[in-house]
Amino acid sequence: MTMKIQEFEHVNYLWDDHVAGQLDPVERLRYRSNILGADQRITNTGGGNTSSKIKMTDPLSGEEVDVLWVKGSGGDLRTSTRANFASLYMDKFLSLESIYNKAEVKGVKTEIEDSMVDMYRHTTFGLNPAASSIDTPLHGLIPFRHVDHTHPISAIAIAASKDQEQLTQKVFGGEVGWVPWQRPGFDLGLVIRDALKKNPKLKGLIMGQHGLINWADDDKACYELTLSLIESAALYIKQHDKGKKTFGGQKYKSLNEEERNKLLVQLLPKLRGMVSQKNRFIGTVHVTDKVLQFVNSVDAERLAEIGTSCPDHFLRTKIKPLYVDWNPQKDSAESLPEKLEAGLAEYRSDYASYYEACKHPNSPARRDPNPTVILIPGLGLIAWGKNKSESRVTAEFYSLAIEVMRSSEAISEYQGLPRQEAFDIEYWLLEEAKLKRMPPEKEFARNVVVVIGAGSGIGKATAHRIAKEGAHVVCADLSEDAAQATAKELAEMYGVGIGVAGTGISGCGSAIALAVDITKREGIRAMLENVVLAYGGVDNIIITAGIFVPPDKQGYIPDDKWALTYAVNATGPFFVADEAKKIWQAQGLKTSLIIATSANAAVAKQGSFAYDTSKAAANHLVRELAIELSPLVRVNGLAPATVVEGSSMFPRDRVISSLTKYNISFDESESTESLRDKLAEFYAQRTLTKSPVTLADQAEMAYLLSSSKFSKTTGQIITVDGGLHEAFLR
Ligand SMILES: [Zn+2]
Repeated sequence: MTMKIQEFEHVNYLWDDHVAGQLDPVERLRYRSNILGADQRITNTGGGNTSSKIKMTDPLSGEEVDVLWVKGSGGDLRTSTRANFASLYMDKFLSLESIYNKAEVKGVKTEIEDSMVDMYRHTTFGLNPAASSIDTPLHGLIPFRHVDHTHPISAIAIAASKDQEQLTQKVFGGEVGWVPWQRPGFDLGLVIRDALKKNPKLKGLIMGQHGLINWADDDKACYELTLSLIESAALYIKQHDKGKKTFGGQKYKSLNEEERNKLLVQLLPKLRGMVSQKNRFIGTVHVTDKVLQFVNSVDAERLAEIGTSCPDHFLRTKIKPLYVDWNPQKDSAESLPEKLEAGLAEYRSDYASYYEACKHPNSPARRDPNPTVILIPGLGLIAWGKNKSESRVTAEFYSLAIEVMRSSEAISEYQGLPRQEAFDIEYWLLEEAKLKRMPPEKEFARNVVVVIGAGSGIGKATAHRIAKEGAHVVCADLSEDAAQATAKELAEMYGVGIGVAGTGISGCGSAIALAVDITKREGIRAMLENVVLAYGGVDNIIITAGIFVPPDKQGYIPDDKWALTYAVNATGPFFVADEAKKIWQAQGLKTSLIIATSANAAVAKQGSFAYDTSKAAANHLVRELAIELSPLVRVNGLAPATVVEGSSMFPRDRVISSLTKYNISFDESESTESLRDKLAEFYAQRTLTKSPVTLADQAEMAYLLSSSKFSKTTGQIITVDGGLHEAFLR
């Protein structure tokens, strides 16, 4: 089955001889993997694995040995680097079969099968720390030099059809065989090897309810074979496409983008609260024409109930999604949350029954019973995960599952994985062990934290501090450029994660930048609505934005500047709290608000009427909001003093005027940083601790006050001022 490159219509042919020619054999495997993973029609994020058997020099004996290089546990074909591949001595790996055969009870799902995974480590070549995956025998036991195992939509469509065996024959002739569904492991490797022994002409196999595996002795040939098999399946599906009759035809119409977003900003916080009663979730809204065609269709309800088929898909999407039969043309917006509430109750009880019916005596405890995928006619797909990356992956997987269903229903009848098999994957003890090995979740994991003023100074330092705690950080600032710079730094430090999904702003990573002027209520509302569309809701808000207009020697500033000072320092935080209140109440999840005030708020002195009194107002706002927003939201104030370092409040002019005011000698030619150090040192000497107050000190307190460590503290102002006895609160 050799196809010419230009004949591929349903896969992207990306092999470049010039690139491949410059690579060593392991890098060629990495290259092949990356270009396979780059096409979602070939495999999903994190799905599939590839291998090459490569001759290498054994560091101990100096002799040439055969080494199996195979994609290891975790990782993803598209983004894999050399470090994601495990390497095993082929002879040692093959010797494991005798250990397996010695077991009294062997076969799929036996104790010996699960214990093989730990044995792979003993066969490691070259001290490679990459852990081998459960799919290793699928590669090691096949007597060809190169193997690709992928999860292509078109191949899974065949594998998830009722008459999958006959379809395999029909589509591929005798070139590709078929093996029934079996949970991956050592035994499946043996099954595949046996199929090949029986029929040495096979170039690959359709793995029932799972995907495709194929092989060749040349790596480029293996790549091209993978593509041509997927292309053949896709062509067959295309010939049978049902067009307008797909999914039984259309039942509902989509809302337009404006109507949809309006409904989503109302709905998402409520929905997030409903699915988060056990664990907080982060949302991704995914709306494509194909998703809409599905959710609006006659068959959506029936097909959703069958669930996803490929085990890789359903580990994220769960056994099935929640489909809500809401008529976007006739039913009211108000009736949607009610329908969702009822649908969720039914879903949770179904999930409990599924667990009870399928559990084994040693099964792990029942997990969160809430759906991770919610389908709403007219609107699209909403996915939930423990973080943005996971919720994007979930959205990606269900949208791939939709394609599988569309294709399967075009050529046959779609069928899901049997419930017990699904359960045995979901609650596999090896999966549970993997979950248990994961580090504990960080303080702000599953949280969306909005930092207003994140473009500079304390806000920027705070954004960095909370990102370290696993927060999804909304960097909001008057200056969009400054906000973007902070968000970019965070994205570079923490990565954007995996998963290709999300519509508009919902396709974001764990940090976003938004412009906001906190003196404008509409602007604040729009900013928060964007946060809701991006992540599904809002948790903590930390407001560090503030303004200091330098007054004259008597402490006066023009009236308009007085008004601006109050608008930013006192009214702004109120607007933010008042706008966020609606979202927080809809969510019903406990959270916190921090307002940065100032030590000046408590110290009456000469020289800055507007700033000091506006900050005093902010202090009292903290107390009143604490009452107003209880019991859902804790509200506390952070009162910094004299943070000179990196502060937008201390431009060169202000530093010079302060140095002059305090009779500190300086030279006009000195750098701003050096002038700031002088002023910081002077301020430090006025404090009880005699230490300069840094941005990191402020960020630490903003973090702590927002965190569960201060969960019993509200309505308080905490000073971080090095110890100014004049600012002691009474
Ligand atoms: Zn697989």
